Formats: sequence, C-alpha cells, structure tokens
Amino acid sequence: MIDFFVSLMQTFGLMCEKRSKENVGRTFYVLSRLKPLRDDTEAVEYEEKRAVSLFHDFDGYLPDDLFQRVATKFIEEFQMEDVEPTLSYEHVELNIDGHHLVILNVATINNRRLFQTTIVRTTLMNTESGSRSPEDDDPQPSICKKVLNFLEKELQVLSQNGARGVEVKMYIRCACSNSEHTHMQVVRKFDKDVLPCRSRRMDVKRYRKLFNKIEVEQASISKSDTDQPSSIKKRKTASENSLSKVQRTTDTRTAAPLATSSLGTVNTSQEQFNNLKYDLGSLYIGERLLLLKCCLFEHVDLQHLGKSSCTANYLLNQLHERRYITPTNIRLLLEVAEISQLKDAEDLINQYVVTNKVPNTDEGTKSVSPYRKRLCMALQQFDPHKLNDVIAYYGLNLLSLPTIWELVFYLESNRKLLEESERKRFAELLGPIAENILFNDE
Ligand SMILES: [Zn+2]
Repeated sequence: MIDFFVSLMQTFGLMCEKRSKENVGRTFYVLSRLKPLRDDTEAVEYEEKRAVSLFHDFDGYLPDDLFQRVATKFIEEFQMEDVEPTLSYEHVELNIDGHHLVILNVATINNRRLFQTTIVRTTLMNTESGSRSPEDDDPQPSICKKVLNFLEKELQVLSQNGARGVEVKMYIRCACSNSEHTHMQVVRKFDKDVLPCRSRRMDVKRYRKLFNKIEVEQASISKSDTDQPSSIKKRKTASENSLSKVQRTTDTRTAAPLATSSLGTVNTSQEQFNNLKYDLGSLYIGERLLLLKCCLFEHVDLQHLGKSSCTANYLLNQLHERRYITPTNIRLLLEVAEISQLKDAEDLINQYVVTNKVPNTDEGTKSVSPYRKRLCMALQQFDPHKLNDVIAYYGLNLLSLPTIWELVFYLESNRKLLEESERKRFAELLGPIAENILFNDE
C-alpha cells in the first residue's frame, strides 16, 4: 500500500525518490514540507558569463504548488546518483552533471511572481588561469536545451491541468535593466539575433546559441542520458558543429539539410528518426500522454510508466532502445497514432515514410494487441461523469484517480484486469458505448 501512495505522489509531482547506490532503504524528497526560512524572493544573480536565466510567467500569478511540483519533477529527472540537492523554500539548487548547476526559484520582478531557472557553468577553483577558452565559461547548449525542453513540457502540462486558460510566457532580462528598473523581454523560440528595446536593441545571439532547437540531436536526448552524462559529451561535438552550420541557412528544423556528409558521424535517417520521435512526443501531453501510456502498457516496464517524469519522448526512446521501432520500421508508431485518432501524428509519420522511403515491413515489430487497441478506443469514449461510480465499485478514492486512465493504470498494475470476467465487468461499468467497443464491435 505504501508503494501505491508513493507512486501516486510521484504521479502528481509531490515527491520523488533519491537516486542512490548505497543500499540504506529508500529516501524521498517532499518539497511541500519545506517551510519559508526567509522572505527572500529576489531574482538570482550570477556572473553574466557563466550563467543564463529564463523566467516563466503565469499571468503574474504563480500557483502555490506549481513551484514545488516542477522542482520535484526536475530533481527526479535530473538528479545524479548520491548528489544531494540544496533545498529551501522556493529555492532549489541541483548539480545535474559534472559541469552544471541549475537553480530553480521564485523571483518577484515588477510585482509579478515568476518562475526563474538559472543554468550555471560551474568553475574549477584550482586550475591555472589562462588555460581556459571563453567557450568553457558558457553553459553547454546541449544542457540548456535539455533544461528548456523539460520546462516547456512540465509548465505546459501543469498550466493546462491546473490554471486553465492561463498562458505561460517566457522572458529573459533585457540588457537595459539596472538596479532601479527591470525590463523583461518576451521570447518564444530563440530564433532571433536582436530584440528591440525602445530606441535601442538587445543582442540575443548568446541565447540563440544556447537555446535554439535548430538541430534535432539535442532535442531528443532522453532521460536515459541523464544516467550517463558521458554520452552527452560524446554527442556534443558533432551536434554543435551542425548547429553553427545549419543556423545560418535555415530556421525550420524539418527542412534542415542534415544529410551533409562532412558531419561524418551523423546518419541522416537516424537524425530524421530522432526528429520524428521528438515531434511526435510533443503531441502527446496531458490526457494524450495517459492514452499513450495505456497503449504501450505491454511494451514498456511498469516502473517507467508509473513515473511522473515519464514523458512521451521518454517512452518513444524506450521503444527505440528495445528495437520495437527503428528508423526503418515504425509500424508501432502508426498503430498508436491511429488508436489515439491523432491526425497530426499520422501526418508526421506518413511524411517520414515518404521522405525516407521506409520499407513497408512488419518484421520484428511488436504491435499493440487487439484487446489493448479496443481498450484504448473504449476509454476515449468514456463519459467522465461516470468516473465516480466506476471508482466506487473498486472501493477506491476519487481524489487519487482524476481520470479513467489513472484508474485503468491502477487496476492493470495491480493485476485486476487479467481475467476475461474482470474485463467484462469493467466494460459494463464503462457504459454501453465503451462496452460495445470493447466486446461486441468486430
Ligand atoms: Zn530593455
């Protein structure tokens, strides 16, 4: 039962488990337990060269638990084994690899409470000065993009679930800011070199270099890379080359001429494939992500599916690792797109198939079982007003299971939908339409 509560709290981003090699029992971080130590919500300032900050604004109002949830998910996703984060009220610091510290905090600027994220390149204290190039001072673009990717996903999901209709805006601090006034510049894509500021302009090439997602390799870095920071380093050289090369020619990722043989190590179809995974992943958020998890229940380990940090990109990378999908075999992706009735996803996949002349082969693919296909279709037809009754039938609590998807996840992971009779009973509870899809619709 403890495991169940833990997994629920993880699902809602209220706590996360400490990653540790030592076998001394499980340790959890629960940020909402932290009480204010000081009334300090000043923006974090760091040496300009080594640090870069992004600010997210939820219409000036930052819901109380939002900071805690995002920070908890951040720790879960980025923590290294046996590295302790520094936790205080509305302020979290975490070393995410050997070279970067990330600070998350609430900053009050111009009377607005903003979510501030600062990426700091850590310094070596006892190194000979002069042996370092200026490049060593900026955070690595691969890390910046990874952090930005995380923020975009999490903040988007939370603002949809919690504060409906609130538009999340991203800001950077304008260069005109001083101790008396702060001017925030709205940014969306980091695809510009300068931003206007009254009669002057601000040079933002640095932000463009650090955050622009022009190349695909970095964007598709999955959680598994967090566990092996060395793989990021290995990739870095190739993709940073491609960044400077591509940036001048075009801004659209899909049209990027990645086939250039001078890159040597980069394989075209692999790039396109990563591109496809990334684009598909961004379509599966919120309830669609739950649908995706349900679809892939037989393909991915339960321990992964239950994690709150388990994004669509992570799932797709898992499928790739297990070779259920490969650059030349994406049947499973198409199946999932069809089941979820997501036209955008089908279009992306068809486009990929045509561009890359992917052979039409079923070999080696583990597809979605007919039962699971029908289950996913049926759940999409489920009337949420009936959720209460279904949950009550199983003697569970509504608060912990906000959608039918979570209920099914609970039932399946507790092996309560294995028998035909259990499935039939569940189908009845779903109502006639869903029942029909599940059992009579052939
Ligand atoms: Zn300005």
